[in-house]
Amino acid sequence: MVPHLYCGVAMRPHLPSLLALAALAWPAAVKAQDISLRLPVACEVGRSCFVQNYVDRDASPAAGDYQCGTLTYDTHDGTDIRVPTMAAQKAGVDVVAAADGTVVSTREGVPDVSVRTINREEIMRIACGNAVMVEHGNGWRTAYCHMARGSVAVRSGREVKAGEKIGQIGLSGLTEYPHLHFTVLKDNKPVDPFSYGAPERSCGGGTSLWDPATQRALAYQAGSVLNKGFATGPVTDEAIESGAAEREVPTTGAPALVAYVRAIGLKGGDVQILALFDPDGNPLAQNKAQPLDRDKAQWMMFAGVRPPTGGFRPGLYRALYRVEREGKPALEQAFGVNLRP
Ligand SMILES: [Zn+2]
Repeated sequence: MVPHLYCGVAMRPHLPSLLALAALAWPAAVKAQDISLRLPVACEVGRSCFVQNYVDRDASPAAGDYQCGTLTYDTHDGTDIRVPTMAAQKAGVDVVAAADGTVVSTREGVPDVSVRTINREEIMRIACGNAVMVEHGNGWRTAYCHMARGSVAVRSGREVKAGEKIGQIGLSGLTEYPHLHFTVLKDNKPVDPFSYGAPERSCGGGTSLWDPATQRALAYQAGSVLNKGFATGPVTDEAIESGAAEREVPTTGAPALVAYVRAIGLKGGDVQILALFDPDGNPLAQNKAQPLDRDKAQWMMFAGVRPPTGGFRPGLYRALYRVEREGKPALEQAFGVNLRP
């Protein structure tokens, strides 16, 4: 399992003197919130993309997200929007401008490789990977990190509209999994778009910078099911990432029927239960995991059964995944597969 999922820090402003000049020209009293952000990725939250990490709102060496949850890590200054597999990343997921603005800097040419496979010191210099920074006026800027090499579609000076494609999600810079690291800056300081202006360590509060539809789509999830499905044996991270697990279609003649789930954002103490049911709803297998010893950025589990003599009966087999946190249901997901000869 992946103990730490790190990713890039925001790009340093490339035009500090120009920004300082512009700041002088603005009226002193601007509205607290004068920007409205749309989702910076062309995906459906909860289905084709997921929030893996929020901004760290805790100035101490500990870390806390805007709901006082643990979906962040120390000094993380952006929102990480993850796609479920490398196969999805390879198929291409557009990164789009979160608001109207002007591109003020870009970086291209950083290879799409996991930080695990290259020199960490080398990658630190280019942590953000292939990137775009957009200036929106009134001291607001947005930065988009880790884009796929060759995908950056805009150059400095280009005006962009909210929703306009500026690149694609990649694996460039300091990252282990394909995602967009999205940083919002106000007067050169990273801010949390979920709780702008909230006092430090407050749980909730502040102002959302997201437009209403995006705010609803991004409603806080204390964990998500990243991948789920059925296989004929144990599934590996590699098989999930490559899309091979998704393509596998168990039949009534399969040597086993295995339900699998890969979840993100789990907490220490969480109890996970994955149960498998036959077409009549009778339990076939159940896997109840030991309470997690600590927070887990990502976790995979299985529940499986061998076929009776003569093979599995045709029909709809269902699986139910449930996470209990402090004795209460925190996450639940049901899924099924139709077995045919
Ligand atoms: Zn990040």
